[in-house]
Amino acid sequence: MNKKQLLPETDPMGQAIRDYFEKGRCARLKVLSPQFDEDEMPVTTLFRTETDMPSTERTALSLCRGRVLDAGAGAGCHSLALQERGLEVTAIDISPLSTEVMRRRGIKDVQQADLLDDAFVGTYDTVLMLMNGSGLIGQLKNMPLFCRRMKQLLAPGGQILMDSTDLRYIYEDEDGILDVDLNASYYGEVDFRMQYRQVKGDMFPWLYVDFDTLSYHAQANGFRAELIEKGPHYDYLARLVPARSADE
Ligand code: SAH
Repeated sequence: MNKKQLLPETDPMGQAIRDYFEKGRCARLKVLSPQFDEDEMPVTTLFRTETDMPSTERTALSLCRGRVLDAGAGAGCHSLALQERGLEVTAIDISPLSTEVMRRRGIKDVQQADLLDDAFVGTYDTVLMLMNGSGLIGQLKNMPLFCRRMKQLLAPGGQILMDSTDLRYIYEDEDGILDVDLNASYYGEVDFRMQYRQVKGDMFPWLYVDFDTLSYHAQANGFRAELIEKGPHYDYLARLVPARSADE
């Protein structure tokens, strides 16, 4: 697996995060996808405080224990909340601009790293992946790699707390029947690219996964998935633990 290296000139989200941090405002962060109409990501959301977080995220924070890895930490909102609670947190992100902002916001342990790359090492009791954090897996075919990485990074008794969304609401008809081409790739596999001012990022894959599909692939790779909380719109929080410790 090649290490993902974002450079500032191809890192629209990082640019937006830095602008917002330094000036308290920023331009539109556009989200482009061949599958969807052009959208926008509100950058303020990335700087949300605990009171602004949805219930599933607050639940995830309350379930964090021990040493926590905030994977794909962005502007670091969850890391900051956990640090304030006295937990030991490591925040990682592939964006050098985001990692710089996180350091300046006071997060003590910040590293520019790719979760899926073997070069990143450590031992954690909780791996936190929030804001459709399943997206870091990229595509379902990466589930074996993801689970192998989690076995490397989790301490005995460790857990992964991840949120995601079932995109079936986009594809189901009025009777709730899913209208997708079964020969096509899984309907939750989406490609995105971002744009901020003149800065365009490369296309990247992002996995939205329904709980049953997550559970199936987790099980095939030595993990057990538990549905912790359903959100208001096809979203949910899940916990994954190595299958052996789940049996204990
Ligand atoms: N979790 C944060 C940010 C979500 S945006 C929040 O809830 O606000 C997703 C972040 O994941 C981006 O900052 C992106 O740079 C980062 N990212 C994407 N792929 C990654 C990977 N493989 N390893 C580490 N970080 C990654």
